[in-house]
Amino acid sequence: MEVTLLGTGDAVGTPHVGCSCPNCTYAKEHGIERLRTSVLIKNEDCHLLIDTTPDMRRQLLNAGSPKIDAVIWTHGHYDHFMGFGDFYRVQRIPPVYGAPEVLASCRPAFKFLLKQEIPVPAYTPFTVCGLEVILVRVVHPDIYTTGVVISDGISKIAYTSDTNEYIPQESKEIMKDADLLFIDGLFPDSFRKVEKHLNYEEAIDMARELRAKDFRVVHMSHIIPFLTPEQGHDGEKFRL
Ligand SMILES: [Zn+2]
Ligand SMILES: [Zn+2]
Ligand SMILES: [Zn+2]
Repeated sequence: MEVTLLGTGDAVGTPHVGCSCPNCTYAKEHGIERLRTSVLIKNEDCHLLIDTTPDMRRQLLNAGSPKIDAVIWTHGHYDHFMGFGDFYRVQRIPPVYGAPEVLASCRPAFKFLLKQEIPVPAYTPFTVCGLEVILVRVVHPDIYTTGVVISDGISKIAYTSDTNEYIPQESKEIMKDADLLFIDGLFPDSFRKVEKHLNYEEAIDMARELRAKDFRVVHMSHIIPFLTPEQGHDGEKFRL
């Protein structure tokens, strides 16, 4: 399995439009960005994309223009699915997997483009791109949201870019002992706490609780400094 972090930013991305805070200034001076959070997984020449962000066109170009064979949507927030329209006239429209509740919230925006929806209830394993996938409930008020756990039979990846600390125990059991975990970390504790997300410090605690062998914090706001350890970076690749 080859895993590429296509983006590590929150809903607004970094630099934040119109912001001149130290981190946004640093990003502009160094020509770096945090595009909206998304992960690409390649297995046996098959490409699986988790979430289709408003930055998807740029992300696919940055990744070398892979043909996407399947998409998973985690929830119906703008920053996680609205880039799906970028497939139009670019490639065959890929099938989309997601919990029935998630597909229901995303469907109205893409009725004209969606060719194949594959509803899969949480906690029901399915196979795509030769990988075993399980969608697990996480808690991201007030919208139905899933994390994703993926295994190729040898390595396990767990992913949740939008959750608070109240992940159900049933989900934690499935996410446990991942070789690689991607976990939501929106703000530092010193800034403020948002009810629907983990903070950076909480993300690190959650990674320890889930006994992840390796992890990266994602879905970071512009408030998180670029040199903070344990953070994911756009374009970062992992081979498992
Ligand atoms: Zn989000
Ligand atoms: Zn800023
Ligand atoms: Zn969200």
